[in-house]
Amino acid sequence: MIKPKNLFYDIPKGWMFLSLLICLIFITIYIYKGSNSNMSSSKEQYYNVSDFEKIPKIDVHFHYNTSDIRFLKFADSLNFRLISPNVDTEMSIDRQFEITGKIKQDYPDKFAFWGTFSVDSFETAHFCKETLSFIRKSMEAGASGIKIWKNIGMTLRDKTGKFVMADHAGFDTIFNYLATNRIPLIAHLGEPKNCWLPFEQMTTPNDKRYYLNHSQYHMFLHPEYPSYEDQIGARNRLMQKHPDLEFIGAHLASEEWSVDALSESFDKYPQLKADLAARISHLQYQSAVDRERVRTFLIHYQDRIIYGSDMSVNDMSIDYTKVGEGMRRTWLNQWLYLATDSTVVMKDMPASKVKGLQLPKEVIDKIFCKNAERYFSKRAL
Ligand SMILES: [Zn+2]
Repeated sequence: MIKPKNLFYDIPKGWMFLSLLICLIFITIYIYKGSNSNMSSSKEQYYNVSDFEKIPKIDVHFHYNTSDIRFLKFADSLNFRLISPNVDTEMSIDRQFEITGKIKQDYPDKFAFWGTFSVDSFETAHFCKETLSFIRKSMEAGASGIKIWKNIGMTLRDKTGKFVMADHAGFDTIFNYLATNRIPLIAHLGEPKNCWLPFEQMTTPNDKRYYLNHSQYHMFLHPEYPSYEDQIGARNRLMQKHPDLEFIGAHLASEEWSVDALSESFDKYPQLKADLAARISHLQYQSAVDRERVRTFLIHYQDRIIYGSDMSVNDMSIDYTKVGEGMRRTWLNQWLYLATDSTVVMKDMPASKVKGLQLPKEVIDKIFCKNAERYFSKRAL
């Protein structure tokens, strides 16, 4: 019987050593390349500070109450487009409409605005007709949607002296019109929950400062006024009545105090979206305690959250450089908090710092731009 050749022993020892060495080199290169590509893919997954100016962004809640367009140009230099909400408050609606309509006309790709309407003639025979005609005029001037304000629910009263809430039947014709014509409603209804608390229990300094200066809205001092729950209840009933109405809850839809509460509302009302305007401090307050919870919330609802700052410029903003610096500082700080894992100083709390959420690039793109992009078309559809 012929013994099979033992191939192994036929290979000279030197060759064997060389082959093993080559194998080892290949394995090492493979492992190194693999770990390196993991590193670069994790880098590519997130933005960093140098991306801030490069990435297209939209601030959907920037009160542009002046015809001085230097601030718009400054925003543009940082790759920000602006949407200015007209509001039924101190400055006349006609003047706001005049300013924002003109800027929209001159800079349609850089600027947009939310129209609004006055409730002064509420409960009169011509309220609906006049309001609908003003809404049509606003949309023709390029408005991206219509905003309502907290005066509904907090100051407006009916003939009997009762507070008029947002789900009042007197608004049905108007909200039906918006829904039928696919015009989004931006609603600042109610206030942060802090509004119903005494100063020492408020969670964020910006709220404390606001209610110190606006005691008429500090509901802790007015227990006879509608409660926080009344405000959220009216908001919910409005959405139930008009399920086809696109509803953007300004200021985290007034559920800024708990990402869990807002999650429940998002799940219950598919038409609901929310802007972040002036409520990032509330997210920071929560993420300082449980970063992962806030991060998971923003990733989960990435299609429904829209960036807004609530900054404003007006004819008093004469120190252009100083105002511009403030705009840049606020935007950059909020960008760093949402897009990177840098440690940032919490807004209005110089002693408190919080780690950034480092949301993935695609989430940042949606929150800062893509979710709002379509509001720049002449008619938001
Ligand atoms: Zn605002």
